[in-house]
Amino acid sequence: MIIKTRFPPSPTGYLHIGSLRTALYNYLFAKKYGGIFLLRIEDTDRERYVEGAVESLIQTLDRVGLICDEGPVLVNGVLSEKGDYGPYTQSNRLDTYQKYAHQLLEQGSAYRCFCSKERLEKLRSDQQLAKLPTKYDRACLRLDSTEVQHRLNNNEPFVIRLLIPEGETTFKDEIRGMITIQNSEIDDQILLKTDGFPTYHLAVVVDDHLMGVTHIIRGEEWISSVPKHVLLYHVLNFPLPSFAHLPLILNPDKSKLSKRQGDVAVEDYLKKGYLPEALINFVALLGFNPSGDREIYTVKELIESFDLTRVNKSGAVFDITKLNWMNKQYIRSLEPKRLMDLAEPFFNEELDFSFEQKERILAVEKERLTTLQDLSQQTSVYSAIPLFEKNLLVWKKADEQDALHHLKNIEQILQDADEKFFMDQLLIEEILKKYIEINHYQNGNVLWPLRVALSGQAQSAGPFELVWVLGKSESIKRIQQAIQKIIS
Ligand code: GLU
Repeated sequence: MIIKTRFPPSPTGYLHIGSLRTALYNYLFAKKYGGIFLLRIEDTDRERYVEGAVESLIQTLDRVGLICDEGPVLVNGVLSEKGDYGPYTQSNRLDTYQKYAHQLLEQGSAYRCFCSKERLEKLRSDQQLAKLPTKYDRACLRLDSTEVQHRLNNNEPFVIRLLIPEGETTFKDEIRGMITIQNSEIDDQILLKTDGFPTYHLAVVVDDHLMGVTHIIRGEEWISSVPKHVLLYHVLNFPLPSFAHLPLILNPDKSKLSKRQGDVAVEDYLKKGYLPEALINFVALLGFNPSGDREIYTVKELIESFDLTRVNKSGAVFDITKLNWMNKQYIRSLEPKRLMDLAEPFFNEELDFSFEQKERILAVEKERLTTLQDLSQQTSVYSAIPLFEKNLLVWKKADEQDALHHLKNIEQILQDADEKFFMDQLLIEEILKKYIEINHYQNGNVLWPLRVALSGQAQSAGPFELVWVLGKSESIKRIQQAIQKIIS
C-alpha cells in the first residue's frame, strides 16, 4: 500500500503556526514511508474566501520546504496542478460532491431539508432555553414524497442532510486510541447546501477517498467530526483511512494559541527573520520529541524518527524563548551561502553595502543575531560610526594618554600594512597581537580603545573583525578621528 497523507487548508490568507505543524507531520509521515504528501485547497466556504490566499499559501509552504508531491503548485507565479487525482481545489469539484449527495438521497442515507434559516434559528434558541442539545428535529424527514415533490416543483431551496442511524460509532485514533460516540449525540449533518456547495464534511470524505488518502493527520479540533465522517464512509461504502489527531498548541498561559497573545502566522515569523529551518525544527517538537533532551534536528532526522504513536496527547506550549534560542543556533550554524540568501533582504538597503561587505558583516555579526531582522540595526555601525564620548575610548585600567599612544601605534601599523593584510581576519589578529606581546602590554590597554575607535560602542564585534569588515582606509579614518577626539 502506498501511504498518502494530505494537508487541506482553507485559504484564509495566512498559514497558522498550528497548520504548519499539521502540514509538517503529514509530510514527515509520508516521507518516512516513501509515500505521497498531497495538498488540497478547501475553499467551499465562500464567505471566508480571500483573493490571492492560495498563491501565498503555496509560497509559504515552498519557503519552509514543504513541497507537495500532488496538488496545486505555482509555476512561474501561475497556479497549476500536479498529480492524477485533481482537480485539487474543492470549488472545482462541485459536481463530484453533488453526485455523491444525490446517491445518498437515493439510497435513503440522506434526506432533503427545506427548513428556513429562521426556523432553524428558532429551533436552536428554544432548545438552548430548554437546556437541550441543539440538533435538527428532523421535521423534513417526516415529509411524504408528494409534499417533497410539491416543494421541488415550487423550486423551494433545500439542503441535503445525512440521516444519522441509531446505535454508536467507534473509531481508532492512532494517538488517542479507541473512541466511541453515541449516534444520538450526532446531528443530521448538512452535506450539501442550498447553493449546491458541499459542507466540509461531505467534501473532505469524498476527496480523501477519491484521492487515495490513507492517513488523516490533523488538529484535535477536528476529532469531534470524525464520527460523522465514519458514518459517511460507511454509507458511501468507502474503506476507512487511519485517523490521528494532534494535540492543541497552547499559549504559555495554557489557553489555545491565538492572535491575541502574539503572532500565529508563519509569514510573520519569516518576515521577522526567523529561518525556515528553525521554524520547522521548532514546530516539529510541538508535540513530538525524537529523543531525550536533544533539540536540534535536520528534516532528514525528523523524517527518520517520526512516529505517530509517540506524538503527545496533551497540548504543547508555544515557547517563544525556545524559538529564539533555536533561531540563534541556526543562524550560527547554517551554511554561509544559504544564510546569505536568507539574510540579504534584511540588510538596510540605504546603507548600500557591497555583497562582499555583507558577507563579512554576516560572518561577524551572526553570533549576535536572534533573528535576521536584528541585522538592520546592528549593521549601521559599518556604514557610519555613531557619535560617542571620548571617555569611552579609555579602558578601565588605563588613561587617555595610554589610549592615545596605542591608537597612534596601531594607525601606523595599519598604514604600513598592504591591502592583502585586510583580507584575512586571522592575519589581522596575528599582527595586532604581536604588537601586544612583544611590548608586554595588556590586551585591554590596546584592544579596548581600538575597538571603541572602530565601533563607537561599548559593546560590539571585536577589533580584528571590525578591521576586517571596515577595510584599510575606513579603519584608519576612524582611528584618526578617535585620536582627534583625545587631543582636541
Ligand atoms: N479545511 C480544513 C482546515 O481548514 C481541513 C480539516 C481536515 O484536515 O480535515 O483545517
